[in-house]
Amino acid sequence: MQDESLHRWLDTHAESLDQGPDQAGELLSRLAQPGLFGVGVPRAEGGQGGSLGDALEAIAGVAAHSLTAGFVFWAQRAFIEYLLQSPHAALRARWLPGLLQGSQAGATGLSNAMKYLGGIESLQVQASPRGADGLRLDGRVPWATNLLPGRFVVAVAVSRGEGAAPVVAALPSTAQGMARSADLDLIALRGSHTAALSISGLDLGPDDLIHGDANEFLPRVRPAFMGLQLGLCLGLARASLAAASACAGAGRGVLAGPLEQQRRALDLATATLHAGLGDGRFLDQPQALFRLRLALNDIVQQALQLELHASGGRAYHRDQPLGFARRWREAAFIPIVTPSVTQLQGALAGALPASTHS
Ligand SMILES: Cc1cc2nc3c(=O)[nH]c(=O)nc-3n(C[C@H](O)[C@H](O)[C@H](O)COP(=O)(O)OP(=O)(O)OC[C@H]3O[C@@H](n4cnc5c(N)ncnc54)[C@H](O)[C@@H]3O)c2cc1C
Repeated sequence: MQDESLHRWLDTHAESLDQGPDQAGELLSRLAQPGLFGVGVPRAEGGQGGSLGDALEAIAGVAAHSLTAGFVFWAQRAFIEYLLQSPHAALRARWLPGLLQGSQAGATGLSNAMKYLGGIESLQVQASPRGADGLRLDGRVPWATNLLPGRFVVAVAVSRGEGAAPVVAALPSTAQGMARSADLDLIALRGSHTAALSISGLDLGPDDLIHGDANEFLPRVRPAFMGLQLGLCLGLARASLAAASACAGAGRGVLAGPLEQQRRALDLATATLHAGLGDGRFLDQPQALFRLRLALNDIVQQALQLELHASGGRAYHRDQPLGFARRWREAAFIPIVTPSVTQLQGALAGALPASTHS
């Protein structure tokens, strides 16, 4: 499914995708061309068929060339997954074709919701009643990626106050009351269309609901949300270990053992992740997925260290086409993307709930 011309394009523009917006407008259509957004999407829904594991590998394949592209792919594919798991067929029919073709961008503003699920944050978008079955929304989404100006739809969890279940809504960029900030001034992934959203008096009808109960929906989609996100770790660790191995040579034999150890750890984590996504165990055992996420974060950081050790001073030259400095910046994203390493360590230590909100 991955094609050589896409890989060449990503390799050519990886630095630019990381450092600025120049290629951001073209990225979605580039990823859509070989049908990547349809991997793991049933043929009956317009996709290529296959499994969630196939989608994971597709994201990993892109992330190995550019984490910016891998993360944009994840955002688009995660939104598609929300639609696939939504009970609302009409909403799916409305958005899926454009998302699969890359003419519409899918954004997932659900970090706040995942932190809410983990008991560390309250929901930042509030609803008040409007008419018989509508809601009026106010609030803020401090981070969302893949906000292609004028052509995005973003998933947001909305509080309905005490005693009412929060909902998950699909909010289009064209909705009255939606304002997108300029792209955030980030140290990396700057071509990812990452910005904040202000929501003020936005009217939400029942047709725009992904799910009427976020407390039920969020734990259900979390294995796909987190599992697909781990494609970023797989791709980055593979790229970094390959670069380290390519440098190994005279005087670097001492690195062979640690490199082999990380390769094995990566193979084991990858196999466990595929098995869990395949048999659905992460639904009942979110802690197993949390542990995998922590292990993969560790492997990425170790891989980058090994690439640095193997590359030596060349890694410090801006005029060497090693990609090390970019991967170093990209790797700094891995521990902080929600659910963050800190959040998961807290959950596994029993300080935070794993699957309920407090
Ligand atoms: C390039 C980029 C793109 C992003 N794209 C998106 C996106 O598309 N959608 C989206 O929703 N978000 C996105 N984010 C946000 C990201 O996923 C994290 O949510 C964000 O970086 C962490 O939030 P914070 O810094 O506000 O955390 P803070 O709330 O300031 O917390 C700091 C750290 O402490 C942890 N923490 C806080 N409270 C506790 C606690 N009680 N116990 C244990 N740990 C705790 C947090 O998890 C975090 O790791 C993006 C971020 C970046 C950098």
